[in-house]
Amino acid sequence: MELVTVGTGTVAPSASRTSACHWVSRGSLKILLDCGAGALHRLAQFGLPWHDVTHVIVSHFHPDHWGELPMLVYALKYTTVPPRTDPLVVLGPPGVVRLVKKLAEGYGPWLLDPGFPIGILDVRDREPFPLDGDVSLETFPVPHTPESVALSLTAPEGRLVYTGDTGPSRDLARWASGADLLLAECSLPADQAIDIHLTPEQAGELARDAGVRRLVLTHFYPPVETSDPARAAGARFKGGAITAARDGDRFTIGGGGK
Ligand SMILES: [Zn+2]
Ligand SMILES: [Zn+2]
Repeated sequence: MELVTVGTGTVAPSASRTSACHWVSRGSLKILLDCGAGALHRLAQFGLPWHDVTHVIVSHFHPDHWGELPMLVYALKYTTVPPRTDPLVVLGPPGVVRLVKKLAEGYGPWLLDPGFPIGILDVRDREPFPLDGDVSLETFPVPHTPESVALSLTAPEGRLVYTGDTGPSRDLARWASGADLLLAECSLPADQAIDIHLTPEQAGELARDAGVRRLVLTHFYPPVETSDPARAAGARFKGGAITAARDGDRFTIGGGGK
């Protein structure tokens, strides 16, 4: 599996980081983990074949994590040559179906019927959900908003866990146990810590407690991005490499290394 951190920012406008979006590619699977504002243009900027996206998986309903979804469907409808025929699958925690249907009342019926099949499904947590013959999605509830989940993708060569937005959670550490790559939110510096986000130190503790092989930090609000979050996380996690991701960084899960 290949991971590209397309958007490592938040809702805070930043010249260098767009809202949450992470591209995962394996064979014909082309997955977006969250689809926040700015994602489409970033995908183009990084040369990623966004026309081929197969799945959008949403961690929760804050707009910095899924606000670009209508833009993606609109772009696939009007800029795909020849016209797209492959289905697009949108997955999220329970409520995502209702949410997209509500949005379509405002945007118009094209959002649900863009000219290619679009499937929207609520995913129940802790139940493996196969994306193809090899890769399986699983979700796990996390302390952020009532619907918020962490996401994992498990392939024969390794497991990627993405926290979405979360506060500290021992249950999450247990669930993420042994992940090959932990993509963890890292919103705020220690002196601004709150219950529903992680500091770099807490992201490091999560990686340590889960015993992951590699920690990649994302979702930086401006006060933390001007610090040295990888160093702060590294004070707690000694078990593997730590990267404070930038938009466009690439990682490989399985097959050994970045
Ligand atoms: Zn967020
Ligand atoms: Zn959020």
